Amino acid sequence: MRTDSTESESISLLRSEAEQRARTLDVTAMLVELDLTGAGETFTSTATIRFRAEPDAATFLDFKGRRLVSATLNGEPVPTERWRSGRIELTGLRAENTVVVTGEMAYSSDGEGLHRHVDPADGRTYLYAMSFLDAAPRWFACFDQPDLKAPYEFRVAAPEDWTVIGNGPAEALEPGRWRIVQPRPLSTYFVTLVAGPYASVLHEHDGIRLGFHVRASLGEQLRAEADDLIEVTAQSFDHYHRLFGVRYPFGEYHQAFVPDFNAGAMENPGCITIRDQLIYRSRVTTSERAGGAGLVAHEMAHQWFGDLVTMRWWDDLWLNESFAEYAAHRCCTEATRYPLWIQFGVRKDWGRVADQAPSTHPVASNGSVDAQSALQDFDGISYAKGAAVLRQLVAYLGDEVFLTGLKDYFDRHAFGNAEFADLISAWTRAGAVELDSWAENWLRTAGLDTITVAGDTVRREVPADRPADRTHAIKVTGLDAAGAAVGRSRIRLAGEPVRVELGDAAVIVPDSADETWAKIRFGDAAWPTVIGLIDKIADPAARLVIFNAARDAVRDAELDPAEAFRLILAGARTETEDVVWQSVIAFAETELAGPYCPPDRQNARSAELNALARAVLAEAPAGSDRQLLAFRTAVRSEGDPAALRQWRSGAGLPDGIALDPDLTWQIVARLSELTGDAGVIEEQLAADRSALAEQHAARARAALPLAEAKEAAWRLLTRPSAASAYQVYATAEGFFRPGQTDLVADYVRRYFAEIPATAEFRTGWALGRTALLAYPYLSATEETLALAEQALAAEGLADPVRRALVDGTDRLRRAEAARRRFG
Ligand SMILES: [Zn+2]
Repeated sequence: MRTDSTESESISLLRSEAEQRARTLDVTAMLVELDLTGAGETFTSTATIRFRAEPDAATFLDFKGRRLVSATLNGEPVPTERWRSGRIELTGLRAENTVVVTGEMAYSSDGEGLHRHVDPADGRTYLYAMSFLDAAPRWFACFDQPDLKAPYEFRVAAPEDWTVIGNGPAEALEPGRWRIVQPRPLSTYFVTLVAGPYASVLHEHDGIRLGFHVRASLGEQLRAEADDLIEVTAQSFDHYHRLFGVRYPFGEYHQAFVPDFNAGAMENPGCITIRDQLIYRSRVTTSERAGGAGLVAHEMAHQWFGDLVTMRWWDDLWLNESFAEYAAHRCCTEATRYPLWIQFGVRKDWGRVADQAPSTHPVASNGSVDAQSALQDFDGISYAKGAAVLRQLVAYLGDEVFLTGLKDYFDRHAFGNAEFADLISAWTRAGAVELDSWAENWLRTAGLDTITVAGDTVRREVPADRPADRTHAIKVTGLDAAGAAVGRSRIRLAGEPVRVELGDAAVIVPDSADETWAKIRFGDAAWPTVIGLIDKIADPAARLVIFNAARDAVRDAELDPAEAFRLILAGARTETEDVVWQSVIAFAETELAGPYCPPDRQNARSAELNALARAVLAEAPAGSDRQLLAFRTAVRSEGDPAALRQWRSGAGLPDGIALDPDLTWQIVARLSELTGDAGVIEEQLAADRSALAEQHAARARAALPLAEAKEAAWRLLTRPSAASAYQVYATAEGFFRPGQTDLVADYVRRYFAEIPATAEFRTGWALGRTALLAYPYLSATEETLALAEQALAAEGLADPVRRALVDGTDRLRRAEAARRRFG
């Protein structure tokens, strides 16, 4: 027995090792037996793995347990000393082998491996497994790489009142004893198990058994959401069956809404895990609901792209995500009541930030040498840029070639693995031409073109440091001074500038339908004109393109943040798309009234936002989504504690607004931040014992304008504790707040000095996300930049910390440059 190997010491699998192992062996069956009946910090896991191998070869198994209890290979004991750095060395293989590994494994609290959550609402325990990206060995021994797929059987012992679900249909053998079989081969990274006293809604559609599950304390809310979830799930299945021409192959389809989930959701075949914030406790808007529908459609698209055909190695991870992102927006728009292309345009801003950061990388072939480094490229480029580029590809190939190629790809590689080149071949067989050079320019070159206008001429500027030849198929619209379209033109823009004849246009908007991947500029002189007519433009896509261009120009220190603020104030009153409204208001709050604003003017900008929100509140219909969005903004920007106290008491609320848990917490958070009254936080927490309440409370405590509250929050950020990852994220979000410059001055220095060492007790998502959320970007000064540069120059930074520092510093540097130029 050994207890000295810890997960943090384990080595990230190299691509070369994965290739060698895939040549050496072939896994034929996996049996995993779990005993989840104990009340302690650990559980027992026994994996029985059958595999064929080259006789006499050697290999290794991945195992990241707390203790290796026993291991045998073909009946012979494997000495426990063979377990080192998360691997068990196996030698003397035969043609047919059976390895059995029993381990004592630790439940996790960071959302990876087998995560355990105790619901503060009722003290009940919930488990779910997250194997992505390389966390499967944290709960069972396996050959952990995407191209060693095998059928799975699970045998699970669990408390008798629990529900157990997984990648295949779960059969209750006797009370507390479950068997789950998935005969289709699975990659280790999407093997899961969900277990606990979950509340469920069951349904069936087109012969597919559907299940929806959530912790018991949200059971009522799940039942309220069920019709909508069932409808979107059914419509998405129908749409994908039509589109792909291949039926969903994994049997039942469960969607488990689980606690403390780091990502939005995970596409485990037959058993999606989704963050349980999507089972709403409070009122949400239709556009927020549409975002949830997009997530449902995204994970379902992965059942084909990722699960049926799986990438051979992590460097093709982008393809999974870009494809699911593209397919989901298309599916929701074409088949559900949630059209999503405008929402996608909002997401593209996220991708543009990533594509202009020093950490940018090509969409494809980023050459991940090991599994963990692939995770660093899992960003706005893999999702938003990749999907935008796929959209241009569809325009280039035509839909028929695109879909015929896909069907060919699914047919050829079903239940196996493939690479991007296989997909290119499939599209070529379907009739695509010159796809290689297209892919080189769009997918294998980082960065993006700028599309500008001078007079009546539209031109493309290619980044000098990353030359490429990309043709943009776009629409161009001319607007007169009253915002009316005076002409439209469809152009293909490449190296040669294109003259457009659009009548008497005051402003020309390139890519006015938001179809390509580029930076958009109207020429400096055009901004005042654009600000003057933003509220008169009828086409929501054109307005979104303008708002996005303004955000981009602010970040490039080309547009005065004060002017961008004026643009948003001018456009928000009449903006019809809630998702755009929400997104530009968020930009105004967090950037234009934050790091892009001198500290002594932040309060004034916040007050202007409050005035806007109150004006919208006064004219929005009672009970409308816009009214709710405006009320939330009014709360967040309110400077008068008396007004907040009144709202909290339920008095003076606009007709159509009712206090629900989220609204109440927003009021409490703003009130305590203004007054330093910690009592209201604890009072509210006593009234609302939910997990979400704990996060709200953590955020509010961190934002209190008190030295002792900052010190306590800082300890939570920089020291190990029993707090959940979500409580830590909320603390990081609340820590640096406008108006607290002096109070937190020393923590700016401490951030750079102390955050790198959090890698000693955090890993993966939790490590990187905490570092990014806690970044002191509000302190956009030369001194902070110098501290950041110094921290980045240090040796030995953990990858997730380095990435957070690089991205945080890029955001800081841009704000500092804008402040230097515009004040
Ligand atoms: Zn995905």
